Amino acid sequence: MFSNLSDKLEKALHILKGHGKITEVNVADTLKEVRRALLDADVNFKIAKDFTTSVKEKAMGQNVLTSLQPGQLMVKLVKDELTELMGGEEVGINLSGNPSVILMSGLQGSGKTTFSGKLANFLKTKKGKKPLLVACDIYRPAAINQLHVVGDQIGVEVYSEPENKNAVDIAQNAIKYAKSNGFNVVIVDTAGRLAIDEQMMNEIANVHKAIQPQETLFVVDAMTGQDAVNTAKAFNDRLNFDGVILTKLDGDTRGGAAITIKSVVNKPIKFIGTGEKMEAIDVFYPSRMADRILGMGDVVSLVERAQEQYDEEEARKLQKKIAKNEFGFDDFLTQIQQIKKMGNMKDLVGMIPGAGKALKDVEIEDDAFKHIEAIIHSMTPLERTKPAVIDGKRKIRIAKGSGTKVEQVNQLMKQFDQMSKMMKMMQGGGGKNLARMMGG
Ligand code: GDP
Repeated sequence: MFSNLSDKLEKALHILKGHGKITEVNVADTLKEVRRALLDADVNFKIAKDFTTSVKEKAMGQNVLTSLQPGQLMVKLVKDELTELMGGEEVGINLSGNPSVILMSGLQGSGKTTFSGKLANFLKTKKGKKPLLVACDIYRPAAINQLHVVGDQIGVEVYSEPENKNAVDIAQNAIKYAKSNGFNVVIVDTAGRLAIDEQMMNEIANVHKAIQPQETLFVVDAMTGQDAVNTAKAFNDRLNFDGVILTKLDGDTRGGAAITIKSVVNKPIKFIGTGEKMEAIDVFYPSRMADRILGMGDVVSLVERAQEQYDEEEARKLQKKIAKNEFGFDDFLTQIQQIKKMGNMKDLVGMIPGAGKALKDVEIEDDAFKHIEAIIHSMTPLERTKPAVIDGKRKIRIAKGSGTKVEQVNQLMKQFDQMSKMMKMMQGGGGKNLARMMGG
């Protein structure tokens, strides 16, 4: 995410960190570099200029030149300014209605339908809501089908009237249906066009007026840079929406949209989309995003994701198995699946402070565990529970079955062995054993 911008900002701030004595010239140079990095990331000129002016004023106000750690103070000032520019605090969505009606708007291809599904899934699994998805695209039957596919995937009902060509009607009927069937959130997915177009705007404005949603969200593809900001402006003029959803932040986005959209339309970014899967949705936290942009990682989100996946019952079972020496390849597979649920590997690595930069040029497979899973799936139940039986002959068979090489099977066996030992150590005498193992 934003690796180019992160790189450039880091280089800019490095100028200061490296210098024993900091002068006004250094600060000015640094800020010039910061401004250039922002412009390259597709931040508009005025915002970039205001940004550096503001940081400069604060730096002077806080006597950066005579402070103990000027480099660090500058990083903090830049971070605070970025956070502020992106909205300061996170802003949740309004779920006060009964049902709460959420209207989705945006251009075709922005990720509106995908996000409608992600939001429904999020509200269902994390907030205990009972959402209803509504297909309001009266032009493209494929769009209605797409929403049904998404709904099936996450187990959320989809309301549609394929024969009805009146979007206002459909939305109103859906809300009635929701009221009489106990749904407490209604998410209305509307038709989008490839570009702003009067007919589309009129239609969504009519739906908006008729259903008076608690929350109108504007979905935009972050990859489109300044265009994203212009589209946001056009939609906001018509709908006065409540929040922005930035999608496709998992791609090679320059970052301009994330940084500027809030200050242009004065509406907060509420969620971000970071992948095609239904779980790839995150609440937008300006401060954490600023950390990531500055290459400082995002440990808070990483720990949160780990906690979300943590299942106490499972953990207890696992502990018992380890204690009884029964940890096998099936458990190893379960552990991998838990990690995978946390998100894609690139995204996770980006959250580790410093790792994003260090591993910038390393190709991380989206499915880094593919081979490991294939190998384990090629094992018999006996081999999975009693790995000791896996001899040379079995290894050849497993490699063949999984389309891997014997060396890869060997490597996995070794990793597994080390992991089992490590777990045993941590369980048994705890620190003492671990210390011995580490040679202490
Ligand atoms: P709509 O026309 O606005 O409803 O857009 P769709 O929901 O159909 O999304 C358009 C394409 O973008 C689809 O191929 C989605 O899988 C993809 N997409 C949506 N959100 C994301 C995201 O956050 N990351 C990535 N990589 N792809 C996304």
